[in-house]
Amino acid sequence: MCSGGAIPRCIVELTGYYLALVLEEACRECPVCFQELQEIQQVLRRIGRGEGGNGAVDEVKALASRARETAACGVGRIGAEIVIEALANYDEEIAAHVQERYCPAGVCDIRYVVEA
Ligand SMILES: [Zn+2]
Repeated sequence: MCSGGAIPRCIVELTGYYLALVLEEACRECPVCFQELQEIQQVLRRIGRGEGGNGAVDEVKALASRARETAACGVGRIGAEIVIEALANYDEEIAAHVQERYCPAGVCDIRYVVEA
């Protein structure tokens, strides 16, 4: 994981980072969005480790669109928006993590599997 207070440049890390900021603002009285955002964060961490394959990306997509629809407060909707935007605009970068086990920004701690 990223060390220090610097803002990470990898979109997977960055999305997780913004989600963490959003979660700090969460009222915690809205369990649907709060829980779902945390779930999204966990799946993002798996993607950052190169785990989960395409299923993990689909899982994040499904969780985020459900959170956007069911969130009772603005925090949940903002969190979901961040994730949906990231998936829409950086799908190749995210796919590289799970498909090639490669972090284009060199930020994520992916255990490389060298097969040759
Ligand atoms: Zn990465």
